[in-house]
Amino acid sequence: MDKAEITIIGAGVVGLAIGAELARQGQQVVVLEKNLRYGQEASSRNSEVIHAGLYYPTDSLKARLCVRGNRLLYELCRKNNINFRNTEKLVVARNHEEINELQRLRLLGESNDAGRLVILDKNDLKTIEPGIKGHAALLSTTTGIIDSHGLMAYFIKLIENNGGTIVYDSEVSAIDRIQGGYILHLSKDTYNFFSRLVINSAGLHSDHIAKMVGIDIDKCGYCLSFCKGEYFSLQKKLNVSRLIYGVPCQDGLGIHLVINLGGGLRFGPSHFYVDKIDYIVDPAHKEEFYSMCHDYFDGIEKEDLLPDTSGIRARLSQEKNGFRDFIIQDESDRGFPGFINLIGIESPGLTAAPSIG
Ligand SMILES: Cc1cc2nc3c(=O)[nH]c(=O)nc-3n(C[C@H](O)[C@H](O)[C@H](O)COP(=O)(O)OP(=O)(O)OC[C@H]3O[C@@H](n4cnc5c(N)ncnc54)[C@H](O)[C@@H]3O)c2cc1C
Repeated sequence: MDKAEITIIGAGVVGLAIGAELARQGQQVVVLEKNLRYGQEASSRNSEVIHAGLYYPTDSLKARLCVRGNRLLYELCRKNNINFRNTEKLVVARNHEEINELQRLRLLGESNDAGRLVILDKNDLKTIEPGIKGHAALLSTTTGIIDSHGLMAYFIKLIENNGGTIVYDSEVSAIDRIQGGYILHLSKDTYNFFSRLVINSAGLHSDHIAKMVGIDIDKCGYCLSFCKGEYFSLQKKLNVSRLIYGVPCQDGLGIHLVINLGGGLRFGPSHFYVDKIDYIVDPAHKEEFYSMCHDYFDGIEKEDLLPDTSGIRARLSQEKNGFRDFIIQDESDRGFPGFINLIGIESPGLTAAPSIG
């Protein structure tokens, strides 16, 4: 039987970042990916925002890994010609009540060490972004955008140049624990192989992979729900240079204005739960996007919005509206030595990827 030292399940940005770091350290790494290419799921279906780390409870994994990932990403991009822009971002308050929320966010961001944060009053806001309606705003100077494909291509090069292997079209369908490691079975054929360590970075399917090895995912709180987010593109130029967000809502960051590296503008992602994975954008959802646009911008008509892409968040269940941190867990204590689970790696997972690695 073939043997591997370390097997990573999933060639999304997180699995690739981990693989790149391990390969760089001289470890023998195999990455298994069920699709024909890397990064076809959440890692290529997101806003490509380099988050600052404002929103998450201080000392949570999300806060720590995001803040560190933000710095690492800018450094990586500069050194390795990965396309990025430090756009900055504004969280805009529509009324006086929301101004209190900006103060709360600023304090939380400062306690997370999330870069320079400045509260702007109505006049300051008009001066720096004349096209935005709002009573006040929080400026985050370290927020930016990144070419996520360029980032993943960079991790792949690191893995391959250091002797690692990425195997596509290889869906893990069963895992057996044996003395000293695990046997991984692939669904396409009868091929199986032994791996001493296994890292489960399977995104939307990571709870399923944990279950395969024998972990009671209900008891451990590992069950995922699929939370879909759609985008609508704007077929019109806006006088705006920063990413524009509303104050966060119960369900997350809310629909925001995303600037693409090519200069295009999109609104999204929305937020609703689905039972199965499909990436169709329902044109009937335009109304929700249109009303968000109107809160912050003048002069946008319904026909300026067109259905664009969508993505699905790997959201940890139980408290659907409460805070759930990333799960990054060595399962030795549960009787699975050398098995590491990464579950619920939703936003800010792209930003956090280099620090998870
Ligand atoms: C709508 C949306 C917007 C977002 N915006 C941002 C943002 O602006 N900034 C930010 O920092 N983060 C953002 N995120 C979060 C970020 O995209 C994710 O956290 C990150 O991409 C997760 O990467 P991953 O590698 O864990 O998962 P994925 O990219 O989903 O990769 C998992 C991989 O595992 C593979 N796989 C699954 N099962 C198996 C199996 N059985 N065998 C083999 N392979 C398997 C899949 O095919 C997939 O390629 C957003 C997410 C969404 C959905």
